[in-house]
Amino acid sequence: MKLSAWIERLKERWNDHGYTCDLCGAELFSYPQPRLCEACEKSLLSNGNHRCDVCGRATVTEGVCLICKRALPAFDKGCSPLVYHGDTAGAINRLKKDNAYLALTFAEKMAERVRQEGWDLAEAVVTFVPLSKEKRRIRGYDQAEELAKAVAKFLALPMRDVFVCTGKKDAQKELSPLERRKNVEGIYRVVERKAVKGKSVLLVDDIMTTGATGSECASRLKRAGADKVYFVTAASLPERK
Ligand SMILES: [Zn+2]
Ligand SMILES: [Zn+2]
Repeated sequence: MKLSAWIERLKERWNDHGYTCDLCGAELFSYPQPRLCEACEKSLLSNGNHRCDVCGRATVTEGVCLICKRALPAFDKGCSPLVYHGDTAGAINRLKKDNAYLALTFAEKMAERVRQEGWDLAEAVVTFVPLSKEKRRIRGYDQAEELAKAVAKFLALPMRDVFVCTGKKDAQKELSPLERRKNVEGIYRVVERKAVKGKSVLLVDDIMTTGATGSECASRLKRAGADKVYFVTAASLPERK
């Protein structure tokens, strides 16, 4: 078979399998199959050099970020593969708008970062920070749940839906870290205590801003008897210079 015909055949097969970039839809021809084309991969801001020893956000210098210095979060450690900024923020926000399939794209990166962290997750369960019932109904799915399912799959861990969100989280954007903590206080309740008692829990959410939500959920998990709580998000807000 001529090379050109061979390539055509391969192209057809790839197209049959939906072998395209998750973000821009460009056809992909490299192997092993990446989820993103090179340009989209490059457009995502990786959480690289300096990261907070506690929450894992990008920091200006090594050590602990200013937010964790002010008040340590209730989760033991946090990490996120991406920095919530520019195109990366845009891509993650698409996950909330009818693009539940993007959970796989980000979850793969989250699972990889968790592996690199070397946390002890031998008997761990994966869970997530839930949306309020009303928001979930409007959106039709919960992006954190989709991420958690995929992260659990990649790490070969069980996923358990243990929280209910009993209140309404007001928009957090304009609030100070302290106000954010107050804003989320008491709105999450663990309804599946057995699932977390005596276990390490890998808590999943899409974005970490101040970490107030993750911290509140972690403190609920610990009150329900969780041993350690690790927090992973697709992206986190960097420390401000
Ligand atoms: Zn692309
Ligand atoms: Zn921190």
